[in-house]
Amino acid sequence: LRRNAGEEEFHQAVREVLGSLGRVVAKHPRYANNHALIERLCEPERQIIFRVPWVDDSGHVRINRGFRVQFNSALGPYKGGLRFHPSVNVGIIKFLGFEQTFKNALTGMPIGGGKGGSDFNPRGRSDGEIMRFCQSFMTELHRHLGEYTDVPAGDIGVGGREIGFMFGQYKRLTNRYEAGVLTGKGLTYGGSRARTEATGYGTTYFVQSMLATKKQAFEGRRVVVSGSGNVAIYAIEKVAEFGGKVVACSDSNGYVVDENGIDLALVKEIKEVKRGRISDYAKIKGAPVRYIEGGSIWDVPCDVAMPSATQNELTGKDAQALVNNGVIAVGEGANMPCTPEAVHIFQQAGVLFAPGKAANAGGVATSALEMQQNASRDSWTFEQTEARLAIIMRDIHDSCAETAKEYGAPGDYVLGANIASFVRVAEAMESLGVI
Ligand code: NDP
Repeated sequence: LRRNAGEEEFHQAVREVLGSLGRVVAKHPRYANNHALIERLCEPERQIIFRVPWVDDSGHVRINRGFRVQFNSALGPYKGGLRFHPSVNVGIIKFLGFEQTFKNALTGMPIGGGKGGSDFNPRGRSDGEIMRFCQSFMTELHRHLGEYTDVPAGDIGVGGREIGFMFGQYKRLTNRYEAGVLTGKGLTYGGSRARTEATGYGTTYFVQSMLATKKQAFEGRRVVVSGSGNVAIYAIEKVAEFGGKVVACSDSNGYVVDENGIDLALVKEIKEVKRGRISDYAKIKGAPVRYIEGGSIWDVPCDVAMPSATQNELTGKDAQALVNNGVIAVGEGANMPCTPEAVHIFQQAGVLFAPGKAANAGGVATSALEMQQNASRDSWTFEQTEARLAIIMRDIHDSCAETAKEYGAPGDYVLGANIASFVRVAEAMESLGVI
């Protein structure tokens, strides 16, 4: 704790994983005794912090801070997104990098864990400012990347536009068309079909598998999805395809409730094209659609909740409200969106609960499929890629469920995900020696 003072989210993520390991260590004591394996797992292999100077549209020089935490490369090159949001600091990036190591292990693909980003706030910035920021960010970051070293992707505030600018700058600086160095690329320059959709779709597939264990399905269910970004939009799309009705979504200012089911074409237009606010949805639709500024989206009654915005967005109080309203399943589209208290309340109430490191792993898994396509200079169809994603999500679900059962906690996906991923990373680390 002293070494990582003030890094609250990192402490929270580490505590959550270590809290699950008692049973695996009891069964295999060597994990606790073997060359400080668990301590090494909690210490990033490398952390890079750098200055990002850029010039805004009025000619002023602005300074932001850039981060890349290369957490663990036992299973493959570091892999994990870049987040541009004013809340970014080293503790947030470390929590995300730590989680990513286990998430990537669950996919069964050869990828290690890393995460990066900046405290840059893209909101309200022009395309030119975004481009200059991305170019400056990549001017430092490029020396730490490579298809065999570290392969970033998008995250909050980083979508196709930003990845394009960063790939352009990487190519210019290195004089190499190294498609496999970034994922989430556009389709014209090495991107994979279904990558944009993968995290939201994947979370929905995971919840579908979880519901099936109780002979339930999305059909006819009321669903609430928080956020209205990349993950939320494609979760809403897949839930609707599976016959569920998403009645509310949000952004950081407020949420909308549409009892007819969220009109996804309109959300996409507002968020992906106009880069507007979710309040615009209610303005355009008019009554009876409601927009609630502030407040908690989790007060909206639903059968399935899919928090898909950001960390710690769903508190104990929110969890209690959901339970009181009869929620049956919760799937984390975002990383660590439920506080430990909220998770505890869901588990005590017998609600099916899918932790982010398992439920939202479809994004990074499809990034690994993008790397495969780049390596073989191939490009798969949407159907082929989505079919692979669906199989991967089912396998992750089954491996979490089976591991939970094996360790005497059937139905506990948190324990299942933590132990299954820990064992994969730990076995590789043991083989590689003390490094
Ligand atoms: P986007 O930037 O596309 O969307 C984020 C959404 O969450 C926006 O609606 C945003 O609202 C809202 N949001 C962001 N920060 C806050 C906050 N502090 N409080 C309330 N709302 C907030 O990001 P993504 O959809 O890509 O990411 C969402 C989550 O999913 C993150 O936790 C991310 O780490 C996780 N994730 C993403 C993956 C991906 O492939 N993109 C893969 C796996 C996990 P506003 O516009 O007001 O900021």
